[in-house]
Amino acid sequence: MSYDVIIIGAGPAGLTAGIYARTKLMSTLIIDAGSIGGQLTSIYPEKDIHNFPCFGSIQAKDLSDKLHTQVESMNCEIHEKEVVEEIRDNNDEFFIKTNRKEYLAKSVIIAAGIGIFKPREIGCKGEPDFKDRGLSYIMPPKEELVGKKVVVFGGGNSAIEIAMMANSVADTVIVHRRSEFRADESNVIDLINSGVKTIMPAELQSVNGTDHVESVTLKMNEKTVELPVNVIIISIGTPSNLKNLKKWNLESTENGLIKVERDMSTSRRGIFACGDVVDYPGKRRRIVAGCGEACTAALSAHEFVKGHKP
Ligand code: NAP
Repeated sequence: MSYDVIIIGAGPAGLTAGIYARTKLMSTLIIDAGSIGGQLTSIYPEKDIHNFPCFGSIQAKDLSDKLHTQVESMNCEIHEKEVVEEIRDNNDEFFIKTNRKEYLAKSVIIAAGIGIFKPREIGCKGEPDFKDRGLSYIMPPKEELVGKKVVVFGGGNSAIEIAMMANSVADTVIVHRRSEFRADESNVIDLINSGVKTIMPAELQSVNGTDHVESVTLKMNEKTVELPVNVIIISIGTPSNLKNLKKWNLESTENGLIKVERDMSTSRRGIFACGDVVDYPGKRRRIVAGCGEACTAALSAHEFVKGHKP
């Protein structure tokens, strides 16, 4: 069988592309190397999302479930734990080979997010020794934090949101290397009102302990300070880890993401892309922006399959 469109990635952008592809009654298959939800379920399932329209506030896992339910109700096929390895031209179609099967598609939408999650590390003494022994790069389940002393490193939206979540069950400090946060203004105000303690500017010099994290050494101005902690969460950005992009022969930007035009077309005719995997001037990394791009990508793919450019 040849699908009208195969969507690579089942995060919010991929699922939204599926919804819009089905409004055009395109036969649609979504393939994800991991699980449905992408970062919503793999990196921050318990996080409350406050800036997705309609919900006021919704937990990331619930947003993923709602998108999944809607996509399934529209008869979109979804395969999890299947890795796309090749996208080859095959006459007027694409030949797509995964680790399990081979498919044909008339168009492709890449919504692969940041790829396989590989966190940015600080690179200080002790950091590699305490991974999973008190040091984590994602928010641990809240019940594991109850009554603990938690320190979060980072100054972006992710670090601030993690610190506020942790603070609801644990004594939490956020440490940032500059004296100004990078996060959205409303998040910074919420952080100030949340009671999370802040230490900035300060840098992590070492992680200390025997079997488990016991403290961190911080460098503040020219002084060093030791802070007793049980849990360290480092959230200083998530560089993309998209090994397959090169193999797929798509033009990329200097930061390794897929270059797209305004209709979300890539450098290969019939292949579109959306979400965290793409870059263009003015790109905003917000879930709702990725979903908007997904709508455009799906409608553009439909126009392409029908044989006329949008
Ligand atoms: P980010 O915005 O890139 O912030 C990374 C933070 O880590 C920055 O504050 C940076 O410091 C710091 N950092 C980087 N390297 C460091 C190092 N070696 N040592 C110490 N600190 C270091 O990353 P993010 O927070 O993961 O967010 C990624 C994107 O998703 C952003 O566009 C963000 O706005 C978006 N996002 C949005 C939401 C939301 O809409 N609510 C939630 C999460 C993420 P400097 O500030 O000094 O550079």
